Amino acid sequence: MSAARVSPPRIIRVEAAVAEAPIMADLRSRLPGARIEVVERMPEARQRDSEVLEVVSFKGQFLKSCPGTRHYLCCGYQILNFGIQCTLGCTYCILQAYLNQPNLRIFGNIHETLDGVDTELRSHPERLYRIGTGEFTDSMLLDPWTGLSRRLVPFFARQGNAVLELKTKTDFIENLEDLDHNGHTIVAWSLNSGFVRAREESLTAGIGARLDAARRCASWGYKLAFHFDPMIEHEDWKAGYARTVDRLFEAVDPSLVVWISLGAFRFMPDLKAAVQANHPGSRILCGEFIRGLDQKNRYFRDIRVEMYSFMVEKIRRVDPDLRVYLCMEGRDVWRESFGFSPEEMGGLPAMLDRAVAERMKISVT
Ligand code: SF4
Repeated sequence: MSAARVSPPRIIRVEAAVAEAPIMADLRSRLPGARIEVVERMPEARQRDSEVLEVVSFKGQFLKSCPGTRHYLCCGYQILNFGIQCTLGCTYCILQAYLNQPNLRIFGNIHETLDGVDTELRSHPERLYRIGTGEFTDSMLLDPWTGLSRRLVPFFARQGNAVLELKTKTDFIENLEDLDHNGHTIVAWSLNSGFVRAREESLTAGIGARLDAARRCASWGYKLAFHFDPMIEHEDWKAGYARTVDRLFEAVDPSLVVWISLGAFRFMPDLKAAVQANHPGSRILCGEFIRGLDQKNRYFRDIRVEMYSFMVEKIRRVDPDLRVYLCMEGRDVWRESFGFSPEEMGGLPAMLDRAVAERMKISVT
């Protein structure tokens, strides 16, 4: 089993405003050999320095809606941003084209952010919040050194109307073992075929290591989720994805899985040049794409429907009640892949809220 390949930062560059923040105490104790550099304002880096972790004071919005578009059905997820960038180097990673800031960066004032989240959740007790942290980085990539999960999981354990989803391609779960999560945290892994994992995401934990981590989290009482996203077309893709689904259900009891999402590979046109420059051996751009309503390139609809239908059928054979959903697809693709459109079931956010109610026993009504 291969673990995720990440080196600990050797330099922690921190803005003065957050130099004494609680997360710095964690970094100091977990990275005792790292050099701490305090700066008034974080200098703009032009090239990645893989030895540096930047800690800044974040001024932006603490919770924001997942960037769905009006053209496709969105799951109504909220993102709690705690940092940006990732060193796992997946060839398809959107961050290559998206961020102009190359170094790993975390927000040193996350403790203030949690105060703001607390206020928001209390002001809408009638609403169930599904909150994730991994939009601009991997949720657990830096956890061995920040110990951030040890703040987030107990915080969400106290929130009656929220669940936290920590989404990762690592096996960095050690901090989760002894936490009192109160059943409010879902630990989630992105999965792929073995072929895609080996070729396109080779620094991440292997599929076996991810599933072993999932099995251990389940033994600690956490609920689980999985995301087959991006699904990439390749020779024998059906056999490759079927094998991963089989391994998934050999590793964990399906009743502990709150949801599984599916998303075929899609990309903004800007990503193409970045992939060609950064990953010349990648095969992800092979194949034909069409421009979607959101301006992203995606596989032809027939291919997407074939991928989704294949996976839905495979998962339903194991657990017909397990909530499977599509990320950023229209109602026609839903109908062809599932036999229904989310609107017929009250909408995608309501479907996912029901999955939380059924599998986590958490609801606001
Ligand atoms: S793990 Fe996620 S954030 Fe990190 S490189 Fe891969 S796709 Fe990007």
